[in-house]
Formats: sequence, C-alpha cells, structure tokens
Amino acid sequence: MRWFVLIATVAAFLVPDPSTAPAAATPAPAARAAVPASDYFNYPLPTWDPHCLGFGSEWRLCNGTVLRACASGAVWLHTGVDIKTGIQPVMAAADGVIAGYIVDPVFRGGVLIRHSTSQGIVLTQYWHVWPRPGFKVGTPVKRGEVFADVADMGAQTHLHFAVFIGDYESHAWNGALPPTECSGFPAFPYRFVDPNAFIQAHLPFVAIHSRRGTLALDT
Ligand SMILES: [Zn+2]
Repeated sequence: MRWFVLIATVAAFLVPDPSTAPAAATPAPAARAAVPASDYFNYPLPTWDPHCLGFGSEWRLCNGTVLRACASGAVWLHTGVDIKTGIQPVMAAADGVIAGYIVDPVFRGGVLIRHSTSQGIVLTQYWHVWPRPGFKVGTPVKRGEVFADVADMGAQTHLHFAVFIGDYESHAWNGALPPTECSGFPAFPYRFVDPNAFIQAHLPFVAIHSRRGTLALDT
C-alpha cells in the first residue's frame, strides 16, 4: 500500500496537470517575448517553393547556361534563393526603410530594404520585382506590408531573395559573387547568409499556429 502511495506521488510530480503543463514549460516563449519586434522577419511570399537556384548554387539559368564566370572559368555563386511564383504581391520581410531601387534590363527591378535589428543592420534584397506606387527610396515599410509585385519574366518569372548582414554598399546588390575574388568582386558569400536559415531563425512568435508548435520550434 505504501508503494502505491509513493508511486502515485512520484507520478503526480512527474506528470503535471495538462492544464498547467504549458505554463510550467514556457521559458522559451518568455525569452522570445523579450525579443524586440524589429528582430522579427517573415518570408516575403505566402508560399516558399524553391526555384532552380538556392544559396550558393552555381549561377546558371534553369537550363544550365552559366550566367557569369571568372576568367579562370570559376562559375559565380548565387547569393540568395530563387522562389517559384507567379506575378503576385511581395511583402517586406521585416520593418525597415527602402534603401535602394535599381532597374536592370534583364533582371527587372531590384529593391533593398534596410532593417535595424538588435544585432545590427540587415539588408533584404528582392530581385525581379516592381515597386508599387508610393514606394521609393526612403519609404518606411512594416513587416508583411506589400511594397512590390513580382515582375513578369515569362517562363523565367520567379522571386530572388537574399539577406545581407551589414549596411548599404554596392555589393549588397549582387545576386551572385565569385567563389574566389575576381574582377573586383569579393568572394562568396561575403556578407550574405542563407536566407532560409535566417528567416527561420527570426520568425515571429505570432506566425506560429499552436502553442505546441511554438515550443517545438523554439527548441
Ligand atoms: Zn536568383
């Protein structure tokens, strides 16, 4: 009888009441709550299926044609991720200010958004987009705000998205960089990081649907 009591006591201690278990196991969400909202990033499209090139892929068209190589023959490497999409709205990945807009005859519009985070300045790079009216250099944007649309590139229509750790400079525009310095360009990845890993690590608490899912992601 004494054993039953002891076992029952231990069991009660080890298996918390389900109604209180989540509260007792919330150190991670509590820590996340202290993260400033400026550190939260979202994916800029509602779906995120990879197109032909990922982060660090050789810079080639989907059919394999090399887009740029050094004189040595070394193929440049892709600084961002290409995402399958039709022509649809593009959202700002985080709160920030539009820091640059250029138009390339082949690649259409490129936009850089500057984000002030607790870890420093981060730029997000969007290629093959057209900014919407009213969105120009200097315009503040909120995370999730539609600021552009995917540009029509026919069968090659896609979004290129990259994350650059640092403030505005000319190389923040690069969609690819050489594997070793050439033609005055720094070696890949320079200040670019894997955009998928970066966004995944900075998704806001509110983007997660269930408490159980949150705990799983935080750990
Ligand atoms: Zn690309």
